[in-house]
Amino acid sequence: MPLTTGIEILKRAHEENYAVGAFNFNNMETLQAILEAADELEAPVIVEASEGAVKYAGADMLYHMVQALVREISVPVALHLDHGKDFGLIMTALRAGFTSVMIDASAFPFEENVRQTKRIVDIAHAMGVSVEAELGTLKGIEDNVSVDERDATLVNPQKAVTFVKETGIDYLAPAVGTSHGAFKYKGESKIDYERLKEVKKLTNMPLVLHGASGVPEELVKKAEQYGARLEGAKGVSDEVLKEAVVCGINKVNADTDLRIATVGALREVLAENPREIDPRKILGPAREAMKDVVKSRITLLGSAGKASR
Ligand SMILES: [Zn+2]
Repeated sequence: MPLTTGIEILKRAHEENYAVGAFNFNNMETLQAILEAADELEAPVIVEASEGAVKYAGADMLYHMVQALVREISVPVALHLDHGKDFGLIMTALRAGFTSVMIDASAFPFEENVRQTKRIVDIAHAMGVSVEAELGTLKGIEDNVSVDERDATLVNPQKAVTFVKETGIDYLAPAVGTSHGAFKYKGESKIDYERLKEVKKLTNMPLVLHGASGVPEELVKKAEQYGARLEGAKGVSDEVLKEAVVCGINKVNADTDLRIATVGALREVLAENPREIDPRKILGPAREAMKDVVKSRITLLGSAGKASR
C-alpha cells in the first residue's frame, strides 16, 4: 500500500474514537518490527523519526526504507517527523517525502508558536503533508502541584481553539500531564482528563499524546537481569492510556518501550551466547522483542483490525 498522510489515518481514528500507535525508529530492524506487527494486526500505523534519527540515518534513508517496506504490506502507514524544532529540518523531511510533520514551537510564547506553526502549515499543506503542533509543556504532574502551576504548564483549552483556528494544523498535541523518557514520575502517572476532554470538545480534531511509553515492568526486569541499570524507570499505565483514548487521544507516541525491549534482548543474547558474532543472530531477537511491544500497544489503543475494512 502506498504511504498515507497522517490526517487520512487520524481522521478516521478521531471519528471512531480509537488511537493509532506512533512508533519512533532509526534503523531497519525497528522499522520492520513496527510494520510487521501492524500488518499482522491489520492496524493503521505511524512511523516517526526524531531530529536525532534524521541525523543518525538521514531523511532519505529513512524514507526509502519505509517505501521499500510499505510495498510489502496492506495497512495504511504514514511517515512522520517527530518534534521538528528547526525550519531547515522540517524542510529536509518534506523534501525527502515524509507525509506528516510536527512543528514543535511549544517552548516559545503563544504568538510566536502560532507564527512558526502557521508558516509550516502553509508549506506542508501545499505539498499535501499533514501537520502536528504542540501546546503547553510536557512535564509530569504530581498530586501536590498547585492549580496555578498546573495552568502554567498544561494546555489551556480556550487557547487551543484559537491556536487551531489561526494555524490550520491537522492534529494537536496538548500537554495534559505526561512527560518524555523512561523516568517520568515519582508517584503514579497522572493525566488531566477533564482538561483533555475540554480540548477535544472545543477543537473537535485528532489529538496526540506524547510521553506515553508504558515502560512495562517485565521488560525492565529482563534488561536488569542481564545487567542494565534502570532503577526508577516508570511509564504510563495501561489503564491511564485507555482512559486517555476514551477522552479523545488518537495518536499515541512511543519510543522508550522499544528501546528497553531492544536492550533486554541484546543483553540476553550477548550474555548467553558469548561466541556469537553474527549481527543477525544478535539483532534478530531484539526485532522480535520490539514486535511484541508494538503488538500489545496497538491492541491496547484499539486500532487492531481497523485497516481491514
Ligand atoms: Zn514527544
